[in-house]
Amino acid sequence: MVTSQLPLWSDKDAAEGWSVRESERARRLTVRVFHTGRVEVVVPFRTSPHAVERFLERHRPWIERKREEARRRAGPPVPFPPPQIDLPACEESWRVHLAGGLRRARLAASGPGLLSLSGDAGAGRTVRQALRRWLTERARQALAPLLADCARELGFSYQRVLIRRQRTRWGSCSTRGTISLNCCLLFQRPAVVRYLMIHELSHTQHMNHSRRFWHCVARHCPDYRTLDRELLDGWRRVPDWVFGDEGP
Ligand SMILES: [Zn+2]
Repeated sequence: MVTSQLPLWSDKDAAEGWSVRESERARRLTVRVFHTGRVEVVVPFRTSPHAVERFLERHRPWIERKREEARRRAGPPVPFPPPQIDLPACEESWRVHLAGGLRRARLAASGPGLLSLSGDAGAGRTVRQALRRWLTERARQALAPLLADCARELGFSYQRVLIRRQRTRWGSCSTRGTISLNCCLLFQRPAVVRYLMIHELSHTQHMNHSRRFWHCVARHCPDYRTLDRELLDGWRRVPDWVFGDEGP
């Protein structure tokens, strides 16, 4: 995949978030309007600029309608890079200071509650990568000891803990006793995180969701039903930069 530099439209279009991508796999021209309103046109390799212009002319009404819908749904824009990152799970709040520079984006703690983002803050992809690396590391430092404490306190044992960044699961427990925790748990309330840990630790004794399993969970976490529902809804609390590829 390569990004085309085809001079297709005005600077105004580019500023409004239009882009063209040449794809060796694409067999025909397609256009996609993201929920942020950004428009991406994917074209087969070596498509002539003229063909792209014609394609866009034909689809402009549809594109404009989709962008209008996106604008209406979007609400206030979320700033990126995020000026602040709140991690309720460990009751932390980090301010992100833009340190400037043109090198590859890097993120490091530079004081209590202060993160310094150095490098090109306008390079969306590398900034997101830096944020994700930091988040995973922070999850390792914060969640692993919490799990260990919880296990000790309640009399469970497990082999090891892995931190993952997953879109669909909050945690899992393997037959070998490896517990995986999603780094996005950091965006949840401590009570919810504790419930998830009790859930996974209970799997070290019951590798299923049988009644005995839920009894085990309930014994240590009577409020588990409410917390489980809250966790199911917890994806809403995960900022876009954790998974999305949107933005500059
Ligand atoms: Zn389970």
